[in-house]
Amino acid sequence: MSAAQPLDVQPTPLALLLLGREADPTSERGVECPGDLPAPSDPGLVARARAAKEKLGDRVFVLGHHYQRDEVIAFADVTGDSFKLAREAAARPEAEYIVFCGVHFMAESADILTHAAQQVVLPDLAAGCSMADMAGAEQVAECWDVLTDAGVAETTVPVSYMNSSADIKAFTGAHGGTICTSSNAKRALEWALEKGEKVLFLPDQHLGRNTAVRDLGLSLDDCVVYNPHKPGGGLTPEQLRAATMILWRGHCSVHGRFSLDSVNEVRARIPGVNVLVHPECKHEVVAAADQVGSTEHIIRALQDAPPGSKWAIGTELNLVRRLAHRFAAESEGGKEIVFLDRTVCFCSTMNRIDLPHLVWALESLAGGTVVNRIEVDTETQKYAQLALERMLALP
Ligand code: SF4
Repeated sequence: MSAAQPLDVQPTPLALLLLGREADPTSERGVECPGDLPAPSDPGLVARARAAKEKLGDRVFVLGHHYQRDEVIAFADVTGDSFKLAREAAARPEAEYIVFCGVHFMAESADILTHAAQQVVLPDLAAGCSMADMAGAEQVAECWDVLTDAGVAETTVPVSYMNSSADIKAFTGAHGGTICTSSNAKRALEWALEKGEKVLFLPDQHLGRNTAVRDLGLSLDDCVVYNPHKPGGGLTPEQLRAATMILWRGHCSVHGRFSLDSVNEVRARIPGVNVLVHPECKHEVVAAADQVGSTEHIIRALQDAPPGSKWAIGTELNLVRRLAHRFAAESEGGKEIVFLDRTVCFCSTMNRIDLPHLVWALESLAGGTVVNRIEVDTETQKYAQLALERMLALP
């Protein structure tokens, strides 16, 4: 086995040493540890990951979602959001194995979009997504029955966020709907409202509401929230008939934490700061922000920002921390980037993928054993792919 080499990326000092430095008694972050800090990843593990990846060569392609830890991102052949990564995997038919460093629904999407001979591996099966888990197949089927009983199912088009299980994507495809990402949600809703009179938006109520109100000019009164834990979704047939947007009661446990207080506090603390948030944030947060956009938008906006500008970013902390480090460099414009909230806000399920799991997956593959394969059954795949193809065909 080769000796450990330093990582090519800038190491993160410690998982909980966040963007601040020195003591910050009013937050959970910014405690500077005196003395030598331990290595971010065990050097032995780094060497083993390198060796296994080298042994596999072009037979493996490693995808790293933007919210992954630095020590995992260091081994990614490409980084991006979930849809970009699934397309990157599909564009590499020579790769026998796709190791998806992300969460379960992303690996499912990669399996749907890649060639049947390619095998998709999720290094830790516990890496789920709390938002995707908020919409179960049976709950959604029950919701459709409620819409049918209210006489609105025929004029309702389902639109499901990429952050949903393969079952929900298949439901969407089978019922004439489309998938959307946070980048194309506006186009998806416009398409759906040309096709029908109402949208059932799954599973993120915030993205659905923000897109409808901010981008399409609908009012908050045009939206109702369907609660799968209440009979009839907690709505009367009249409410369902009057609504244009029927929003599933789901949310992202990371983006849902940002509050209007976080926005007000950062504006008071950093005069001239630009607040940039993800559309999975609550409507009042999005309304108070200067800019709203997907992770890819956030990265582009910071690239294009004037030198010396100040930004508070409302998205997952691994990404914000990496961007803060990158854009603080003089060569990148010396921009000041802080995390919008004063408390820790990692995606805990994304963080399940760590270097030990990645090493285990790569070494198993190199040894001829496929572990943690994510495989979507043929029937589910057929309808989920239909919904994904409708998204690709959006004007
Ligand atoms: S950040 Fe939110 S939507 Fe993304 S994987 Fe984590 S819980 Fe799911």
